[in-house]
Amino acid sequence: MRPSDQGGPVMAKRPSPSRIKTHNIYTPAEAADVLGVHKQTVRRWISHHGLLADKTQRPWLIDGGDLKAFLGHRKRKRRRKLELHQCFCLSCKEPREPDGKLADYVHQTPTSGMLTALCPSCGCLMHKVIRRSSLEAIRAKIEVTIQRADPRLVSPEDTPSNVPFEQERECDVKTQSK
Ligand SMILES: [Zn+2]
Repeated sequence: MRPSDQGGPVMAKRPSPSRIKTHNIYTPAEAADVLGVHKQTVRRWISHHGLLADKTQRPWLIDGGDLKAFLGHRKRKRRRKLELHQCFCLSCKEPREPDGKLADYVHQTPTSGMLTALCPSCGCLMHKVIRRSSLEAIRAKIEVTIQRADPRLVSPEDTPSNVPFEQERECDVKTQSK
C-alpha cells in the first residue's frame, strides 16, 4: 500500500529545490524553468500557499532562499506521513516498515514507550516513541515484543503487579551479576 500522490495530474514532476541558488533572485518564470514546473504553479505558490515574493515589481521577484525554504517545508510535510507501524530511518531518510515485521517495545512512562526495529534496507536501528494506547493497532500490523524496562529505571508503582515472583527474582540476579 502506497499513499497516493496528492499533487494531482498537473504536477507530473516533483520540483527539486537543490537546483535553486540561495542568493539568486528569480521571477516566477525563471523559477518555474529551473524547477521544471509551470510558471502558473509558481504564481499559485505565491498567491495561495505562502511563498514569499516581492509583489511591488512586475514580474514578481522571489528570493532563492525563500523558495528553497518553501519547497523544503513542502517536502518535509509529505515525509511526515508515517503510518502507525512504520518508523523513520535516519540513514535512509525514509519511513520504513520494521524488518521482518518485528519490533520491540519498552515502556518508558505509564502512557508511552519506545518502539525499536531494524530498517529492512540498511539494517540501522530505528526508534519511535509511541503511545501505549496505539500499541494494539500496531500489533495488528507487525509483531511487537514487549520488553521489560530496565528495573533500575522503573519506580515501584510502574512495576506490573501480575509479574510472577520467579521472574522478578531472575531479574534481580541478572542485575546483581552485571
Ligand atoms: Zn534505513
